[in-house]
Amino acid sequence: MDMSNTTSHVIVIGGGFAGLAAATALAERGIRVTVLERRPRLGGRAYSFTDDATGDTVDNGQHLMMGCYHETMRFLERIGSEKLVNWFPAPRVDFLDRDGAAALICPPLPAPLHMLVGMIRLRGISLVEKLSLLRVGLALQTSKKNFRAKYGDMSVAEWLTKYGQSARIRERFWDPFVIATINEDPAKAAAVLLIQVLNQGFGGTFEDSKMVISKVGLSELYTGQAVTFVEARGGEVRLQTGVKRLVVENGTFVGAELSSGETLMADACVSTVPPADLARFAGEYFLNLDTFGAAPIISVNLWFDRPVMDAAFAGLIGTRVQWAFNKSAFAEDAADSNHLALIISAAYEFARVPNEELVALALDDLRAVMPRAREATLLHSRVVKEFTATFSATVANERRRPNYKTAVANLFLGGDWVNTGLPATIESAVVSGHRCAELIRTEKGA
Ligand SMILES: Cc1cc2nc3c(=O)[nH]c(=O)nc-3n(C[C@H](O)[C@H](O)[C@H](O)COP(=O)(O)OP(=O)(O)OC[C@H]3O[C@@H](n4cnc5c(N)ncnc54)[C@H](O)[C@@H]3O)c2cc1C
Repeated sequence: MDMSNTTSHVIVIGGGFAGLAAATALAERGIRVTVLERRPRLGGRAYSFTDDATGDTVDNGQHLMMGCYHETMRFLERIGSEKLVNWFPAPRVDFLDRDGAAALICPPLPAPLHMLVGMIRLRGISLVEKLSLLRVGLALQTSKKNFRAKYGDMSVAEWLTKYGQSARIRERFWDPFVIATINEDPAKAAAVLLIQVLNQGFGGTFEDSKMVISKVGLSELYTGQAVTFVEARGGEVRLQTGVKRLVVENGTFVGAELSSGETLMADACVSTVPPADLARFAGEYFLNLDTFGAAPIISVNLWFDRPVMDAAFAGLIGTRVQWAFNKSAFAEDAADSNHLALIISAAYEFARVPNEELVALALDDLRAVMPRAREATLLHSRVVKEFTATFSATVANERRRPNYKTAVANLFLGGDWVNTGLPATIESAVVSGHRCAELIRTEKGA
């Protein structure tokens, strides 16, 4: 790649977290970027819109971040959005079931003690089951460096069974945790992803295990700011501009053919689109992209006539809805709206259920575990189904996530699904964007 002069130009395909992280990191170093986004809006799978009936901002799915999202925080700082997120003061998760509430509250102790002490205090789990957590803690401690080699062919369920986790502790703690963080059935999900999350989220500093949520709608958190950042440095962001084909000469990327028919030439390209989209314009360079599969997430937004929940968020146990987020507790424009976002992750069996039925079942679940919801009147609802929320994080898929560098010179791959070692999350997307930008900058010497 001849990137030795300042006129070098990089095409970034996709305007989600990965694409905008890559574009801003390149622009920061004086590289001219053109972001190409097929849709009329940026944000990809993490965006927000206005609900017509209430005027409230609704995310396509409530996104939870953690203090260990270091690259995401670096991206938000770069574009000036770091103040738009709430950092919850201590790692705390409330769990609600038909018998009442219990909370996992981690004290400010060094990791992993804070998590273990938090678990010991958790109600609804026997002492023997709590002590069995020590086996998980020990397995994590003794396999920090080689866990991928050791557990690469195991599912989460197999790994938890190996370390003596009972059906009850799995149902009450591990399964909701795994489904929320990996968006896949624990029987299929790759164990290494759970281990990575535990090491990073709960094996680092106290700050790393704090929960972080945007105060504003997701689109408002990062998309406009990233465009301003790129444009101020001579770059461009083009909406409704899909890539139809890559132009590759002698094994080297030289340009992209656009939906308009135009061909845009560039010195390098970062594609950040999901695998099925990449298959459409570059399938010949990668194997079996369309077999990665996808896992759905459903969000049922409910508006009540009165407050029904105090905590900012809670895990629901023994219900079809797994998590409830109380928008009034953290969203700037929802202080008095009594707006709850209820989440069903790995929602395979609910993806085809009509919206009215989803609202009814979400309301039933909520009323089963949250007494105040029984008296409250439902004023309005809005369901968002994301059929392809993440790639299906199975053991087999985890082994074949592609690397940033590809067989085509000057073509780099980003996106939450590439080989970052993380589950398909905002942090994985941003890490991938930053790594691709670093590889390009290294070759340019910028
Ligand atoms: C409902 C839901 C809840 C979630 N919850 C969480 C959470 O709590 N915490 C968390 O960290 N993560 C969560 N995630 C995951 C997170 O949203 C994703 O990991 C992240 O947004 C992926 O970003 P990306 O840039 O890799 O991909 P995308 O956001 O998919 O961006 C790719 C972009 O490429 C564009 N594109 C596709 N084809 C073309 C083409 N041919 N030409 C040009 N552009 C193209 C697409 O339109 C898209 O905008 C959730 C996701 C969903 C859907």
